[in-house]
Amino acid sequence: ERKAALDGAKGPGATSDGHKVPLLANVGGPADVDAAVEAGAEGVGLFRTEFLFLDDSTKAPSEEKQVTAYRQVLEAFPEGRVVVRVLDAGADKPLDFLTPGDEPNPALGVRGLRTLLDHPEVLRGQLTALAKAADGLPVYLEVMAPMVADRADAKAFAAACREAGLEAKCGVMVEVPSAALRARSVLQEVEFLSLGTNDLAQYTFAADRQVGAVSRLQDPWQPALLDLVALATEAASAEGKSCGVCGEAAADPLLACVLTGLGVTSLSMGAASIPYVRATLAKHTLAQCERAASAARAADSAHDSRIAAQAVLSGE
Ligand code: PEP
Ligand code: MG
Repeated sequence: ERKAALDGAKGPGATSDGHKVPLLANVGGPADVDAAVEAGAEGVGLFRTEFLFLDDSTKAPSEEKQVTAYRQVLEAFPEGRVVVRVLDAGADKPLDFLTPGDEPNPALGVRGLRTLLDHPEVLRGQLTALAKAADGLPVYLEVMAPMVADRADAKAFAAACREAGLEAKCGVMVEVPSAALRARSVLQEVEFLSLGTNDLAQYTFAADRQVGAVSRLQDPWQPALLDLVALATEAASAEGKSCGVCGEAAADPLLACVLTGLGVTSLSMGAASIPYVRATLAKHTLAQCERAASAARAADSAHDSRIAAQAVLSGE
């Protein structure tokens, strides 16, 4: 019955007083697209492209294979928004032909955009395939880079996008605390930010996302993580640019309200969470979300932060 009620309410994401927060889907491959459409996603906020590279660990996939895969996702959201993330190899997603095998700390080594800047032909191949895939489609394509640490990274990525002739908005993920701290400087080079809260938590708390023993520190309700989110959204707002969230944090309906209160402009999550986030957001005003965000940030632990936000949102 609950599921039926959720299915009944599709439509765009918004607070009860009409503040729009587009609800987008995280997609790990063409197989996830149907679920995203079914859930009423307003587009794709994170298209992870790693799946294309898993079949052959010795070289990049052909342009033809890439164009076909990108086009499949782009066509599923005609006139919607699709944010494609270029390859995020290394650390928890190693690839034999790209990832150095001898790093003592792979999560702190050559991964994400760092890998692509060391292998510009792979980045160029992806961007060119994306340009071809989007050609002639009405879709609103955005492209972003993972693991961007500073303005120089953002500048290098933006230059690669331009050189590939890509007619798309170019943005970066905020996954490294330095990028959140200096978000305004990063935004001089690109048009949007997307917070990857999984890695941002990992790097903020020096807590490996793959190590269960430190999972307490991976909790996205940690007030320090919320502070970094606020730095990024404030910078984006000052620059007149958007700042979404595409990490797991966006899938928690209560936290989605807090993120909205912090000024996040879109929420991207696994399709299964979209109906729940949509329903919860629709019950609260933007002002309530803002009060919940302040209460959450005033707490001293993830646990207390959640309790404080819940109290505000349930009208206590
Ligand atoms: C993140 O780090 O929050 C993120 C969305 O990227 P991934 O989980 O693919 O590293
Ligand atoms: Mg990440």
